[in-house]
Order: sequence, then structure tokens, then C-alpha cells
Amino acid sequence: MRTAVIPKSRNPSSPPPVDAAAYWAGIARELAVSGDGPLNIAQLAVDRHAASAKADKTAFRFLDEAGGRRDVSYRELAALTDRFANLLGALGVKKGECVFVLCGRIPELYVAVLGALKFGAVVSPLFQAFGPEPVRARIAQAQGSVLVTTASAYRRKVAPLRDALPSLQHVLVVDDLGGEMAQESLPNTLDWTTALAAAAATPVVPDTTAADPALLHFTSGTTGTPKGALHGHGAVLTHYATARYALDLRPDDIFWCTADPGWVTGMSYGILAPLVIGATSIVDAADFDAARWLVILAAERVNVWYTAPTAIRMLMKAGPALFAGRRFPDLRFIASVGEPLNPEAVWWGVETLGLPIHDNWWQTETGGIMIANTAKNDLKPGAMGRPVPGVVAHVVRRVAGQPPERIATPDTVGELALETGWPSMFRGYLGQPERYRECFAEGLYLSGDLVRRDADGDYWFVGRRDDVIKSAGHLIGPFEVESVLMEHPAVAEAGVIGKPDPLAGESVKAFVVLKRDVVADETLRRELLAHARRRLGAAVAPKEIAFAECLPHTRSGKIMRRLLKARELGLPEGDSSALE
Ligand code: ATP
Ligand code: MG
Repeated sequence: MRTAVIPKSRNPSSPPPVDAAAYWAGIARELAVSGDGPLNIAQLAVDRHAASAKADKTAFRFLDEAGGRRDVSYRELAALTDRFANLLGALGVKKGECVFVLCGRIPELYVAVLGALKFGAVVSPLFQAFGPEPVRARIAQAQGSVLVTTASAYRRKVAPLRDALPSLQHVLVVDDLGGEMAQESLPNTLDWTTALAAAAATPVVPDTTAADPALLHFTSGTTGTPKGALHGHGAVLTHYATARYALDLRPDDIFWCTADPGWVTGMSYGILAPLVIGATSIVDAADFDAARWLVILAAERVNVWYTAPTAIRMLMKAGPALFAGRRFPDLRFIASVGEPLNPEAVWWGVETLGLPIHDNWWQTETGGIMIANTAKNDLKPGAMGRPVPGVVAHVVRRVAGQPPERIATPDTVGELALETGWPSMFRGYLGQPERYRECFAEGLYLSGDLVRRDADGDYWFVGRRDDVIKSAGHLIGPFEVESVLMEHPAVAEAGVIGKPDPLAGESVKAFVVLKRDVVADETLRRELLAHARRRLGAAVAPKEIAFAECLPHTRSGKIMRRLLKARELGLPEGDSSALE
């Protein structure tokens, strides 16, 4: 039976409040690091375990598209990353320079990321499906000096633009085209295998501290041109603490994070956090495929699964037949991030996989999970949960020229703001110091997302500041309307926008993608309008519904409401072309 709250049997109470600074100091002590002493992400993620009884434990299990698998232990990972760090030194790369990676989820990517961190370079991942221009724009903006890529990606995406990238000194190419022929045809590059084999195997002792820059992640570009957010090595404290608390990840677990390492989730939780905890991670090189994913979950005996609403919606769309008779006895915890998780998806988890899906909230800028539904707390489908320990959140109202005003009254919509000081807070927007400064006021980071907090302290996502609809005096969050449309059995996905309206200011319009084999006709449109009116009331329900084949998504899979709106109004689709 569907209820407002899914109770947790183990411990329904909240953790006791802990002073944030004291909490992070405790995490640092646990990892045997200090605020200003040596601190390096790769040392904590890899070398620490390689020097322990865990050395031969599998760190990563790589699954390839052809059905092959390769296990890499912590010991092997330490040796490979030592070589890559030594190679960077031998090439004359300097600490703090930017190393880009552009390839699929292959072992070399993981060695390059962790080796570069060990060396003290700044790592920036490029999403594998980017075309030449987004690749060029990002490398140029960060003045990247090293790129690790594959032969096929280099040929298609980098070679035509290489002359336009004078900062790019060294390109290491993983041969995916088959041997010498490929290498000969790639002038001005180094072969990954040869270079790594020739590099010194001497163990590298990193000399970074918490404040040294480590990671450069570009945002998804949902609201405009992607921004480059910089994080320091100290961010790893957040990765470690939140994976344990919000994902319930334990050292003996098999963990699968489906996010691509080209995005912050794939880096923070797909690479770093499970290693620091000492778990085993599954890495699948193949693209999304519903049937394949179900096999991986079962056959690899995944215990903790971290995915995204877009993937869950695709699994839901695949239909119930695919799940018939399947069991996942090893699966203990499922979490999702990146977009609002419709209550319908939480219940789908319960009914199809036997477990609810736990939504959590964070951003590229926050570097790690900030608000979460956890294994221990009662779960309200549709809510994002509560701040994790060490994070202090507020709901605020911004008035131009005034300090943000904190809203104490429950269920009042305001901007989500976080008290500064958590370790993975971003340290800058690349090349945009003014924009960075504008994100902060009175010791608060202003997230740009609107939320409400209920009387129990649970946070509910309302929408981005830019997406919220103001209609006849009501503030309408698109997520609420989309979630209600998703309840209808015919609907696979919905995107909701505000359209200028002479009387109401804005009127609500919904774009709806239907499930397979459902016929889009006038009867269904009327049925959906009536369903929404019944559930939301006439003031909030859409006035218009349009059927769509698909909705525009960012490369990371998020619905782009700004494009739906621009198309509806016949406006230009934005100036983000250079980075998208
Ligand atoms: P850009 O900043 O370039 O417009 P983006 O904000 O989508 O892109 P990310 O940092 O990848 O880039 O995404 C963070 C945003 O995603 C959050 O600010 C929020 O709007 C949305 N988001 C993430 N998790 C959740 C969630 N659990 N519920 C609702 N929204 C979420
Ligand atoms: Mg953003």
C-alpha cells in the first residue's frame, strides 16, 4: 500500500546534531589527515589501502561491452598510478597544471585520474560523448596541458582542433583502433601503453595539502553556459563521509555508481568515495541498456546502487515484463541524484526491485551529497531528505541589496542556502571570480534552487530559481506538476514550463512523453488535464498539454526546461553552444 512515509525498521530517529567543524575534524582524524598537513586524494583512495591488508582486494571490476571483465586490485592500482604520476613528471608537467581525460569507462581513465591526482595535477574529465567544440572550449578555458584519450576519440574530436589548443603539450592515446597502423596515423601523440611501460615504477609520495586544487568539473549546463567549478584535495573528506552516511556504503560492499566520470557524480562517487571507503566498484563500459543493467545488478551481486532519475525513468519505461521473476537479494540500498525524483519512481523501486529509491541533493559546486534520504531515516516519497552531518542548511529569501533572510516557518518556499565550510565546497568558478563571489552572502552559499522544509525538517525540491512559474499569484514548481503527470499510467516523462499569459502572468504548460504503445489522442489529453486538475487543483494544474516524442536533455540526462520554453516562445535557444 502506498503511504506518505516509508518507515525504516532499523532506526527511525535522526542522528543527534553535531557541530559542523567538530564533525569534519573527526572525519579528518579518522583518515589520519589534518587541515594543513599533507593530504592527497589518491593517497587516501589507493595507496593507503595498497599498504594495508586490503592490498589484494578488488578496487574496480571493469565490465567491457563484449562481456569481458577485468579486476584491478588496490595494489595494482597503486603501481599503475605511480607510473602515470612518474610519467607526468618525466614529461615536464608541473603541479597544478590541468590534465584532461576524454574516453569511455575504461581502466586507463581511472589510472589517469588517480595518477594525476597523486602527482598533484588538477584533473578535469570530459564527457565521452562530447563533440569537438565542447572539448576544445573546456581545454582552452583551463589551459589544459595533458590529455588522455583514445585513438578514435582523438581522430574525431581533437586532431581537427589541435592547432587551436596551444596549451596542450602532451596527448596520451589509448589504442582502440588496433595497433601500429593507428599509432602512425596520430602524429604528435604518445602511445599510452608504451609511455606507461617506460615510466619509472618508483612509489610516488604526494606533496599536496587540503587546499591544493585537485578537480575541475564543468556543470551540466541546464540553465546556461556550463561553469567550471574547482575543488581542492580536502574535498575527499566529504566524499568519504557522505558515501558512508548517505549511501550506506561499507568496506565490504560491491558498489555500482552508474554516472559517467565525465560528471561530478561519476568522479566523486563513481571513482573516489568507494575507494576511500575501501569497497569494490563495478564499472560498466557499455551504454544504458535496461536488460543489461538488471543482469549486472544481479550477477555482480551489487549491494549499493547509485543512479539517476533519468535512468530510473528509462527502466520504468522498459515495462514490467523485463522485471518479471527477477530478484536482487544482494541489493541493500538504492540512491538517486541529479534531478528531482518523482514519488512514482520511489514506489516503482519498492514494487519492482523490492527497495525504495532514496533521493539525495547536491550540485557540482557542493562537490558531494548535502541533503539525503538515508538508510536509517523514514522516507517521504518526493522529499530530498535532510542535511547530512557537517552540513547546515537554511531556507532563505533574497531581497536585492539586503542580507539573505532566513525563513523559519515550515513549508515556506525559499532558496536553499548552506553554511560555508564543508570540505568539498567549490573554491572558484574558472575564470569567473565575480560570479563565484555572487554565490555567497553572510557566510552562506546560495544554491539557486528553491525548496521548502516541512515541520519534520525534510526538504522538498520546488524548482530552480529560473524555472519556477508565477501564475495568478501562485508560485508553482514544475517538479510538482511533472510528478503528478507521471502518476498517470500512460506517461513516461513530463516537462513543465510557464508561458506568458496576459491575465495570470504565466500559465502552466506541460510537455508529455507517452509510454511505448500508448496512442496520443484528444481523449487522453483531456484525461491527463482532468487528472492533473483533480490532483493539483485548477490554479496549479497545466492549462495546456502537448504530446512530445522526446524532451530536450542535457548531455548528463536532465530535462532542459529552458529549451522547452525557448522553443515554445520561438526564442533563440541560448548561448551555451560553445560548451555544450
Ligand atoms: P548548470 O549549473 O550549468 O545550469 P546544473 O545545475 O544542472 O547545470 P549540476 O551541478 O550537474 O549542473 O546539477 C545540480 C542541480 O541539479 C541542482 O542545483 C538541482 O537543480 C538539480 N538537482 C540535483 N539533485 C537533485 C535532486 N535530488 N532533486 C532535485 N534537483 C536536483
Ligand atoms: Mg547549477
